[in-house]
Parts: sequence; structure tokens; C-alpha cells
Amino acid sequence: MFNELKKEIENCKYCKEKFGFEPHPVFWGKQNSKIVQISQAPSNNVHNSMKPFTDISGKTLKYEWYHISDDVFYNQDNFFIGALAHCYPGKDKNGNDKQPPKCCFNKWVEKELKILNNEIYIFIGAKAAKIFFPNENYEDLVFKNNIWNGKLAIVLPHPSPLNRKWIKDHPEFLNRRIYEIRDIIENTLTK
Ligand code: SF4
Repeated sequence: MFNELKKEIENCKYCKEKFGFEPHPVFWGKQNSKIVQISQAPSNNVHNSMKPFTDISGKTLKYEWYHISDDVFYNQDNFFIGALAHCYPGKDKNGNDKQPPKCCFNKWVEKELKILNNEIYIFIGAKAAKIFFPNENYEDLVFKNNIWNGKLAIVLPHPSPLNRKWIKDHPEFLNRRIYEIRDIIENTLTK
């Protein structure tokens, strides 16, 4: 069932007309990946590389925040690297990445989440936090351990350079919280 779903997603062209270009669905992970990480949507770089977080956000996330190598991050036994939408959605008229198409979450992501057999979740960015914890304050979520679907769920700010102000305004994220998150990741991966 997992492999069939993966194949269907990889072949999906549902948003082609809306995007105005050929969608490149990015799928990375296994049914039993230990950590399910869900962020917003692939960037233009990832649209071209077809490998998640091969961009500036990825450098911050992997090397500065998680302190892990590409070998660990891209090992699909470790991380299922998903998003609210599988495809880069293009730019708006101001040159910013468009919002992830909502249809992808309903069409695919909900189904994936139902069949994944992970140990913990990491939700990245305010948009993902709002989907999974619609009634909770985003900043509270970042600074505590949460439970979603009966499992530990970490909420991270987005590592994009566009989010630098939030990081600067919340120094306790880099001074304290990220150390706790690194420990959780390490403990999960070495179990
Ligand atoms: S964003 Fe999702 S629904 Fe749209 S084309 Fe890509 S995989 Fe299909």
C-alpha cells in the first residue's frame, strides 16, 4: 500500500494547469522512517534537485540546527522528509514562493500520515503548526514537547532566511530549545 501510494504521488500532475509548469512531486522516506518531518513545500532548488532541503534552508536545518550530516539526514530509515505539498508551487507576482496548494494535503499527505509507522514528528514552520495544532499558540508549540497522533511532536520555526527576524526576536530558540531538540533527535535515531 505504501509503495503504491508513493508511486501515485510521484506520478501526480494534478496542479500542472494551476502552476503553469510541470509539477515535480518530491517524495523522500520509508513507511518505517523513525522521524516524520513535515515542512511547507519544496523550493525552486528542490524542484530541480528532487532532493528535499538542498537549499539555504536545508543548510541551516541540517548543519546549524540538527548538527547532522547529509548521510544521516537523507538516510530514509531515519527521516521521512515530507511537506504540506509535494511540489514547488512557483512564485507569486512579488517574487515570493506561492502558498503550498491545499489540495495536496487532502489528496496525499493525510493518506501518507495514516500509514506511516514513525516514532516522532517534526513540524516545520507556522503553516504546518497551524494544520496540526489549529487551536494552539505557535510560539508555545515551539518551546515545548507536544503530542500529535499519540506521539511526540516537535514544532520548529522555518529555517528559511526569510524567517531571520523571528529567530533574532526569540534568542532562547538557539540558546536553549535547539539543544533539547538535538537530544531528542539523537535519542530517536540511536534507539
Ligand atoms: S502539489 Fe501535490 S497534488 Fe499538486 S501536483 Fe504536486 S503532488 Fe500533485
